[in-house]
Amino acid sequence: MEIVEKVREAGIVGAGGAGFPTHIKLSSQAEVLIVNGAECEPLLRVDQQIIPHEKVAFLRGLEAARRAVNAKRVVVALKQKYKLSIDSLKGGGPYELFLLGDFYPAGDEQILVYDVTGRIVPEGGIPLNVGCVVLNVETIINIGKAIDGQPVVDKYVTVSGAVNKPGTFKLPVGTAVRDALKLAGEVSVEDFFLIDGGPNTGKIIPSLDFPILKTTKGILVFPKSHPLWGKFAPDLKVVLRRAASTCCNCRECTELCPRYLLGHSMEPHHIMKVLSWRLAEEDKLTEAYLCSDCGLCENYACPMGLSPRRIAQALKQKLIEHKIPNPHRNQPSNTRALFSAKRVPTSRLISRLGLSRYDVPAPLKEVDFQPDEVILPLRQHTGVPAKPLVRIGDKVRRGDVIGEIPEGALGARLHASIDGVVTSITAEEIRITREQG
Ligand code: SF4
Ligand code: SF4
Repeated sequence: MEIVEKVREAGIVGAGGAGFPTHIKLSSQAEVLIVNGAECEPLLRVDQQIIPHEKVAFLRGLEAARRAVNAKRVVVALKQKYKLSIDSLKGGGPYELFLLGDFYPAGDEQILVYDVTGRIVPEGGIPLNVGCVVLNVETIINIGKAIDGQPVVDKYVTVSGAVNKPGTFKLPVGTAVRDALKLAGEVSVEDFFLIDGGPNTGKIIPSLDFPILKTTKGILVFPKSHPLWGKFAPDLKVVLRRAASTCCNCRECTELCPRYLLGHSMEPHHIMKVLSWRLAEEDKLTEAYLCSDCGLCENYACPMGLSPRRIAQALKQKLIEHKIPNPHRNQPSNTRALFSAKRVPTSRLISRLGLSRYDVPAPLKEVDFQPDEVILPLRQHTGVPAKPLVRIGDKVRRGDVIGEIPEGALGARLHASIDGVVTSITAEEIRITREQG
């Protein structure tokens, strides 16, 4: 069977970010295949540790992906500080190792494509527009496993921050956050909040029952007294009021915006200017389409502690809702001046975010954790939700297909991640409970 079909059957999606279905990416032809092992979000420790642990699957997945897209050049991009992964791959096969500095956001697909190839992805475009396909380390490992028919039923996750024993664990997809916290020695503070992902691009986890998804890279815990809470907590109206009353239009957010520096027309201070000074430059608002959501403007650049990222992301949503198209399609021929000099060292970002005390190892720990129940959202990926193939009361085995991609749609299959009985099905999720005794 073709590898693309095996990947589709295995339900593989990008193991981080928006979870784009991998079988679609592998259906393209590209000159360069880039493995994104930058893992640039502070505190996350997955991709940098799992290559030696899953080396066979990684190398098989890499070769399968190379063949699928017919790449002439295969590049594994890792930060030069990920010594164990680098050593495990030295002299190992028909790929190049590309060593990245310790900057944020080194793992932004478009920044990575530029660093590796010198090509600039056009505005509103994707790496394929310049002959590249980018896949993350864990996605490559999942491709390697799909060759033998193994579906995505587990996820590597770093659990860190205010926990007693930070660690990185392989857990069944759908495991509740509360179970993952137990494995990390429980939360070490009283009043806390949780983030799915990194401190810059992550999302607030609304409850301890929230499941680990195919895209979850990390669960981070912080006390509500931490300054990061001030970034995540306020609702959008407050964020907008603060922007309107405080933005001095210094344009620091623009000067450090990675997409602006790449040569794109993303200038977040334009958006802030329209909002705060009500200047008649509404046409600038569509620049929100070019925001990568990296968070550097609000977490590092802005001297007033404002949130251009949240505003740009909310604006992008509104533009899509109102069916206003993205007019920005330039293909820059050069980056802006000082592109390299303006890169933000991760250590400085960590310090600015007040995360130095949490910047500790989260070693990969072998656990054979089997939860009593999993919650499997039908949509853990870009595209439409999977269509349930089971009914309440059905017995399922780990690896069984329980959700299918609707005919002709963009989506991903869903598999049972534990043996058990289907106890609930809603429009959003399937719940499986382990049979006792
Ligand atoms: S850095 Fe802050 S104050 Fe300066 S223009 Fe941007 S949002 Fe306004
Ligand atoms: S989050 Fe801010 S810095 Fe990052 S791309 Fe968007 S506007 Fe630029």
